[in-house]
Amino acid sequence: MSAASKPPSVTNLAKSPEAMSVYDAIAIGSGIGGLVTATQLAAKGAKVLVLERYLIPGGSAGYFEREGYRFDVGASMIFGFGTEGTTNLLTKALEAVNVSLETIPDQVQIHYHLPEGLDLKVHRDYEKFLQELSDRFPQEKKGIRKFYDECWAVFNCLNVMDLLSLEELGYLMRVFFQHPLACLGLVKYLPQNAGDIARKYITDPELLKFIDMECYCWSVVPADKTPMINAGMVFSDRHFGGINYPKGGVGQIAQKLVEGLEKAGGEIKYKARVTKIIIENGKAVGVQLATGEEYRAKRIISNATRWDTFEKLLPPEAMPASEKKWQTRYQKSPSFLSLHLGVKADVLPVGTECHHILLEDWDKMQDSQGTIFVSIPTLLDPDLAPEGHHIIHTFTPSWIEEWQGLSPREYHDKKEEAAEYLIERLEKIFPGLIEGLDYQEVGTPRTHRRFLGREDGTYGPIPQRKLMGLLGMPFNRTAIPGLYCVGDSTFPGQGLNAVAFSGFACAHRVAVDLGL
Ligand SMILES: Cc1cc2nc3c(=O)[nH]c(=O)nc-3n(C[C@H](O)[C@H](O)[C@H](O)COP(=O)(O)OP(=O)(O)OC[C@H]3O[C@@H](n4cnc5c(N)ncnc54)[C@H](O)[C@@H]3O)c2cc1C
Repeated sequence: MSAASKPPSVTNLAKSPEAMSVYDAIAIGSGIGGLVTATQLAAKGAKVLVLERYLIPGGSAGYFEREGYRFDVGASMIFGFGTEGTTNLLTKALEAVNVSLETIPDQVQIHYHLPEGLDLKVHRDYEKFLQELSDRFPQEKKGIRKFYDECWAVFNCLNVMDLLSLEELGYLMRVFFQHPLACLGLVKYLPQNAGDIARKYITDPELLKFIDMECYCWSVVPADKTPMINAGMVFSDRHFGGINYPKGGVGQIAQKLVEGLEKAGGEIKYKARVTKIIIENGKAVGVQLATGEEYRAKRIISNATRWDTFEKLLPPEAMPASEKKWQTRYQKSPSFLSLHLGVKADVLPVGTECHHILLEDWDKMQDSQGTIFVSIPTLLDPDLAPEGHHIIHTFTPSWIEEWQGLSPREYHDKKEEAAEYLIERLEKIFPGLIEGLDYQEVGTPRTHRRFLGREDGTYGPIPQRKLMGLLGMPFNRTAIPGLYCVGDSTFPGQGLNAVAFSGFACAHRVAVDLGL
């Protein structure tokens, strides 16, 4: 018998990619995007493995502990923990794997401290917020209501339908027959940006700058470049489901998802840095770790950024044309200079809110170290700090280039200088802050890159120029068969609830492809 006509041996069979796959799916990374995908798939009966390069799960939604303080790495203002509707995706993701989290409602989303004494609070109560804004801009009262009401129109369309994969025809047809008007509404807003809608109703230049800041503080671009779908979600859900802080810190979300993943039969490995996505016959079939170990699966899901996925885990010269095209439309956003402070409780005046934004000069809104973000989670959960103390987590956009090519001494001194300047500026809202300092740790874009595994420490993709709303953001499938992306490099973008949406969509698409 010739070799060609031999029946397939057990060895040959075992070498075919499908036969060798131990797992149905492997997720590279345990950010909220990766974990929601993994838990959703495990809940549907798939055999799932999550590989995480760091020691704990969560990525940008992780935490670290120092001297009795538990600091959130990044996110602190959490959407998606509502109890009603369909957009409460963090609640839904936890429920799907039979775990839950206590959350603490926040009555104010943001206290803005803006140029020319523009001092405003975004109250959980919609009417109270509109009243406060209209009192400041009485001539724009009608326009203010029309703009924010139009955001509700977007939200109301989203909040009636299950948010799953827009790449799956069966789902699209089902949802269209169930909610035809809501679907048509979303199709209308998909290519639009918030700035265009705002200018339909509002002319006051200062108010338009305020709307820019309302967008910038989560999209890191002004209203003209911020998709209306995202604006509709954020500007309405803060009054609908509200902002709710997880008891025990933001890191609890990932911890609970991992608990649920394991209960549902999934696995997670830490200190498991994927260095390569294995491609065979043009298809993603497995991954290789820094240790040389290999794992195979029928589907590979990358929770790393697109830049990390297509330039580091795959050979950059083999980058698919669709990725090259995407990179001409989107660029990396800046990273952040972060300051994690422990302070004496009496630094904070009575009635201080949890989240603040500080900017002294409108022209500097988008500059490096222009806008300052502040979160004080211990106002909601005092157990995160030693008694009589608070956490002040403050961060401001910063580019990695500013922190490269420095000697260790220069790097250290530059960090100290930047921290001092940030604290000096914060004294405006927290007089006496300097004297009240108990603990201080500075993170730079290099820190974000190192600990979060994100190219240049970027917060995620932002449009290079004005684009057509969300139309250019890629869904979860990629040009490489078997390879999917999830997280903030995919539709609909940054934020915990947004990457949870991406996770639901990715798991749905993968499950359909696996025939689950
Ligand atoms: C300073 C800051 C403040 C923020 N504030 C808020 C906020 O208040 N509210 C909000 O909703 N959002 C906020 N965000 C945004 C939000 O945190 C992110 O959009 C979201 O957490 C991103 O989730 P992700 O799943 O896409 O990826 P990530 O969180 O980046 O997770 C990716 C995971 O993959 C792992 N990984 C990467 N490469 C590999 C590899 N090769 N092998 C193995 N593992 C790998 C990483 O270690 C990481 O754990 C903030 C972000 C930052 C940085």
